[in-house]
Amino acid sequence: MAVALLVAAGSGERLGADRAKAFVVLAGRPMLEWSVAALRAAGIDDIVVALPPGEDAPAGCTGVPGGATRSESVRRALAAAPPGEQVVVHDAARPLVTPRHFTDALAALAGADAAIAAAPMTDTVKEAGEDRRVVATHDRSRLWAIQTPQAFRRAALERALDVDAATLAQATDDAWLVERAGGSVRVVDSTPENFKVTTRHDLRVAELLLGERGA
Ligand code: C5P
Repeated sequence: MAVALLVAAGSGERLGADRAKAFVVLAGRPMLEWSVAALRAAGIDDIVVALPPGEDAPAGCTGVPGGATRSESVRRALAAAPPGEQVVVHDAARPLVTPRHFTDALAALAGADAAIAAAPMTDTVKEAGEDRRVVATHDRSRLWAIQTPQAFRRAALERALDVDAATLAQATDDAWLVERAGGSVRVVDSTPENFKVTTRHDLRVAELLLGERGA
């Protein structure tokens, strides 16, 4: 059975809210509760939440204090997780996740060490130097915008997270740590709707979409 690590310890400074982002109320529920509900609907009941100071885990979840960086929070949550060969990591900042995102990622683990939700790029992506001069235009047909959930074979994630704090701090997602440890990572089709709430605009869009779903 899979265990879930829900990372919710970020402060969410870019949102400018008066409490940590994952605890901002969105369409009638604290943001992280939407992800907890989707996990349970997917049949995943063992949920460890990495928390910011002063907040408690939702009922029925295990709480651990978050770390200084996202991957440090993942490492702490994993250390507190009950046994289970498959681990699914999810950002509480993606409240529009559906049960299907979790089940699809876990199903794709059959042929890889990690399987990660990803949306095909719709914008053209260019690379520019500090002087803003464009140096490359990448082939969009091969590019994916990476999200969570990210599902892992537990042993592969444990090995990948066994690195120094500087390397952990460099990781913007956990799959990169698996890649650099030589593990196989595959993308699983997702949609832009599973976006990460970062700005006040995102919060407003998420509120409208979740309001349609109903609490
Ligand atoms: O900052 P960002 O939005 O990229 O964070 C992604 C997710 O990682 C969020 O759900 C946030 O709560 C979590 N996080 C964490 N511990 C940190 C930093 C971020 O759990 N130290």
